[in-house]
Amino acid sequence: MDLASKGAERLRVLVINSGSSSIKYRVFDADGLSLICRGAVDKIGEGKGIRRHWTAQGVDWKEEIDIKNHDEGLGSIFQALADTGMILDKNNLRGIGHRVVHGGTEFKQPVLIDDGVVETIRRTSSLAPLHNPTNLLGIEYSIRKFPDVPQVAVFDTAFHQSLPPHAYHYALPFDIYKRYGIRRYGFHGTSHQYVARLAAAHLDRPIEDLRLITLHLGNGASATAISGGRSVDTSMGLTPLEGLMMGTRSGDIDPAAHFFIMRQTGKSPEELESMLFHESGLLAIAGTNDMREVERLADGGSERACLAIDMYCHRIRKYIGGYYAVLGKADALVFTGGIGENSALVRKKTCEGLEGLGIHLDEDRNSSVSGEISEIQLAQGAVRLLVIKTDEEKEIARQTLKKARDD
Ligand code: AMP
Repeated sequence: MDLASKGAERLRVLVINSGSSSIKYRVFDADGLSLICRGAVDKIGEGKGIRRHWTAQGVDWKEEIDIKNHDEGLGSIFQALADTGMILDKNNLRGIGHRVVHGGTEFKQPVLIDDGVVETIRRTSSLAPLHNPTNLLGIEYSIRKFPDVPQVAVFDTAFHQSLPPHAYHYALPFDIYKRYGIRRYGFHGTSHQYVARLAAAHLDRPIEDLRLITLHLGNGASATAISGGRSVDTSMGLTPLEGLMMGTRSGDIDPAAHFFIMRQTGKSPEELESMLFHESGLLAIAGTNDMREVERLADGGSERACLAIDMYCHRIRKYIGGYYAVLGKADALVFTGGIGENSALVRKKTCEGLEGLGIHLDEDRNSSVSGEISEIQLAQGAVRLLVIKTDEEKEIARQTLKKARDD
């Protein structure tokens, strides 16, 4: 049955984020990008998995299910969709967008996936060994299932491919860069790009005229300097470990500390890597990586929790100052991500002492943020302070639709 004969059938966009131990998905209406349903399968290959499925019509399931591998997980997702009346096929699917963590230097924007793209993503896997291979499992499954539907890869790194060489090079022997691609790539690009676009629309100014500092503060955290809609510097580097302090990741530390720690503790490179990614950050200092819990502990008088918050905000302030210098000025500072959107305390402590840069927080507005976008600066603040809810999947859906239409 073709679309014309089906008449009123609505077109959909499916977004798949096939991660190492979980697969998340969302289905949007292609006309207006309203969310129709979403869900996830978690703990793939770990025995007791969990499948969740939510629809705008009121379905809200959560069940335990043993999911052995990604193919089983994806099969179970399409089963959940079918069980709730969402039969996706080539007639009603306008495109499928896949989140891919690392696009290396090859991918500067979303691409329609073909065999060559799959091979290039595979080659780039050495830069993201935990993510790209499982992103590819999602891609390969959906190509098998929907061979006639446009499939688009949207890369976390793509937005930052506009960084100038002086921002992306590390001061290492040049051969290391040339042979192994060791340089700053940056991540969370989809989120930084999304909130920058919303900020420009909200400020009613062409994005080309704006200089923005965007702060994505979630479990992972990064800051980006955006000039004229292009990323010109960003805090994450070769991997998502560099930069801000995060939930369980250290962010910046003296590179020589790695060798010192290995010598002192006898840890292997793999053990040290695991420590820096999974046992550091807020978790290491406060004992939990959940900022709500850190704030609760700080409220109760925990010195370590207070220290964690002070460290967290101090690091962000340093990046704001640095990016102010990179940009020459800032029209707006954007807070997003679970912490950026919800923690009035982190926003307040981040803005403290930055009046000299034109950053003046209105504490009343800061504590009554609501909706998609809020402004929280005092009237005299030269820099607009915005809190914007991020929606990476919606941005992937938008970019998928655009790519499917353009090609
Ligand atoms: P994300 O990775 O974007 O989902 O963000 C997760 C982080 O947001 C966790 O550290 C949460 O504790 C934090 N978060 C969510 N809601 C709040 C809140 N109301 N106050 C402080 N932190 C929050």
